[in-house]
Amino acid sequence: MSFELDEIDVIPESWTRSHLLDLESLSTEEITTILDTAGRFKEATHGCKQKIDALSDHTVANLFFENSTRTRNSFSLAARRLGADTIEFSSSGSSLSKGETFIDTAKNIEAMNVDVVVVRHATPGTPHLLAQNIECSVISAGDGPHEHPTQGLLDILTIREHRGNLAGLTVALVGDIAHSRTARSNIWGLRKLGAHVIVCGPSTLVSRRWEELGVEVAYNLDDILPRCDVLNLLRIQFERQYTRPFPSVREYALLYAMNGDRMQRAKDDILIMAPGPINRGVEVTPDVADGPHSVILDQVTNGLAVRMAVLWLVAGARER
Ligand code: ASP
Repeated sequence: MSFELDEIDVIPESWTRSHLLDLESLSTEEITTILDTAGRFKEATHGCKQKIDALSDHTVANLFFENSTRTRNSFSLAARRLGADTIEFSSSGSSLSKGETFIDTAKNIEAMNVDVVVVRHATPGTPHLLAQNIECSVISAGDGPHEHPTQGLLDILTIREHRGNLAGLTVALVGDIAHSRTARSNIWGLRKLGAHVIVCGPSTLVSRRWEELGVEVAYNLDDILPRCDVLNLLRIQFERQYTRPFPSVREYALLYAMNGDRMQRAKDDILIMAPGPINRGVEVTPDVADGPHSVILDQVTNGLAVRMAVLWLVAGARER
């Protein structure tokens, strides 16, 4: 069964962006438009299970130069749920190994009449560079440690669904803040919607300079825990670290893993989140990851709705 577009809505006049490169440059109103659209898609398609005939004459290309499970599959499925064709590109096995440049690769993909390019790359700023060099819409699926805008949006949508409103909530991002693009996108989005954000982790991974973004810096999880409405447990990004930030994973887990004992000292209605992949026993223990406060799989479900909304909005603005 599929829905016609007018059963969902029309793109608001105020939405003019044909790219989604980060959350830093989005206004509060633009973030709210994406969240509202995602909510409507989710509702109208029964959790994004049914198709909407919204982008049936479009082609979406996934250009992934870094590994991905959730983001890539979710963008592909979102495009197909909207009726679009998809192209799946992975850097391994491509002509990049024959010396083709990144921009040439992208231009060749675009020449197949592609409307939207979703790009993930290890280099910060790659989506912005691409947007300056190709005609089609560009959506960032994560650029190195810089930003991961759709992750930030799906995290915020998940909190909003459970709490109604972000304003006044205290959200702690715990873990490898230094290397986390999820942290940056969460900070921009959460702050714009009025949440109080705490970044918490070992001092080797959390600089005092984060205060310049208007967040609270904390080094002791047990101290801040009773104040937190939401914990977003970020993965230790070993692949981006050149020196060891702590003596052992066991020591990290003792100080920062969310476990059953810490749950006893948390608010009764605390939400436990993680962008995935989770390392069980490092950032979160299995009893908490799979426990009643965990909304980790809700985040994945909401990722599909957010990506449908973003694809539809940027493609619509480009055509306008
Ligand atoms: N999946 C998220 C990302 O790509 C978080 C992570 O990898 O830890 O940034």
